[in-house]
Amino acid sequence: MSVSQFTDLMREAVMPVQDTSVDHTRHVQVLEGVMECPCCGLIQKLPELKPGTQARCPRCNQSLDRRNKTAPIATPLAFCITSAALYVAMLFSTLMMLDLYGRQRTVDILTGPIELLHEGWGEVGVLVAIATILAPGIVIAMMGMILTAALRPSLPSWVPHLMKWYELLRPWSMVEVYILGVFVAYTKLVDLAFVQVGAAVYLVAGLMVSMAATDATLDTEIIWRHRKIDWFMRPMRGPRLPLTFVAVGEEPLMPSSNRVSCLSCGLVLEFDRPVHVTQPAGYCPRCGHVVRRRKANSMSRSVALLVSAIVFYLPANIYPVMTVIRMGAGTGHTIVEGAIELWVDGMIPLSLLVLFASVTVPVLKVVGLSYMVMTTRHKSRRHLAFRSKLYRIIDIIGRWSMIDVFMVSILVAMVRFNHMASITANGGMVCFAAVVVLTIFAVHTFDPRLMWDAAGENGDTVFARTAGIARRCGQTPAQTSEYLDNMEPDRA
Ligand SMILES: [Zn+2]
Ligand SMILES: [Zn+2]
Repeated sequence: MSVSQFTDLMREAVMPVQDTSVDHTRHVQVLEGVMECPCCGLIQKLPELKPGTQARCPRCNQSLDRRNKTAPIATPLAFCITSAALYVAMLFSTLMMLDLYGRQRTVDILTGPIELLHEGWGEVGVLVAIATILAPGIVIAMMGMILTAALRPSLPSWVPHLMKWYELLRPWSMVEVYILGVFVAYTKLVDLAFVQVGAAVYLVAGLMVSMAATDATLDTEIIWRHRKIDWFMRPMRGPRLPLTFVAVGEEPLMPSSNRVSCLSCGLVLEFDRPVHVTQPAGYCPRCGHVVRRRKANSMSRSVALLVSAIVFYLPANIYPVMTVIRMGAGTGHTIVEGAIELWVDGMIPLSLLVLFASVTVPVLKVVGLSYMVMTTRHKSRRHLAFRSKLYRIIDIIGRWSMIDVFMVSILVAMVRFNHMASITANGGMVCFAAVVVLTIFAVHTFDPRLMWDAAGENGDTVFARTAGIARRCGQTPAQTSEYLDNMEPDRA
């Protein structure tokens, strides 16, 4: 074998896919400095933000980018380490101690899910364990790994996958909802016996604050900037497509049907030919996730989940969620009865809170999502900004309905004194937990950009604009005139 043959073989072994597998007849452009609003689908130019400011979509007011005044990596990392310490301490501490006529019972955070499993309500036990123990632990570990990796000059290839899983799992870590569940359970137990609050309650409260602080100081855009973008794009099948980088304004834009933005990292790609609306267009050259213009089968999937949630909604409210046995006699409690009981006991704010979280929120989610699906089907152009806002609201408040499920899990674990006093879970709770989970999935599956698509607002006649900047985070946006309408209109 000659030297040149050997070097050719070596090159093939080290770099198996060379230029031969690249389709040079096609090309994909990365549009730099722009992003698609994930809530309405408007492509807009992102200005360079100063620390302490944020950019909002001028059409639907969705927050698009934010620069914190704090250090972008070190501050969330410090809060993340605090969360990890609090989490470990929480696992090994006592949640509450109950004393009923000299008989005592001590529970920790694990007791609730275990007792539910013993009673035959395994599915709810697993849900409670995921929301209070597993998801927070995994989310803290992931964030720790992401932030440690972000300290390096170039982001390793596994980080984008962790970032995606972090986004998916974060809503299922419900520490802040659990602390309210603990509070409601406490007020119900005080009536029954002497209750002593354990260290775990304070640790969960601390964990809630430190996890919220991690999210508030986290700047994902800064982390993404550490990640090098590949020079090619992998389509779902066939040879790779060469990438070029263009700043917006340099060249006229392609029709909107050629553009795809990555929902995971926000990169905007422009193809040389139209891309199917829901079919995957390939793998993102920055984060490696499958990119498509709109979520696949979004409407039919959310309708299916919504219908399932409505089916569970009636039994969830008619059947008792728990049975309280005192001196051998037991009475069932439905969700509404639980709230009324708090009202009668004089806990009016807490009763209103439970009523809001357990009755109003599920109804608002079902009615709100049905309204959005119907108006999208009818291609309605009315109240688009309001509908986008409604979508964001029901996405945020959805998890608060879990208060009742957490409360029952704590009460079942604590009150186990045989015929003297005991609390058992009932079928109503399974139905209620199903409503909460199904509506969370339904909201997540729905693509809010479809509302603007159906109204014809995302066509090629729409001018892409620059995101408005709020001077300080949380304020209403004040658009800066020098940035407005400085992009080329979309051209068909
Ligand atoms: Zn928007
Ligand atoms: Zn991406």
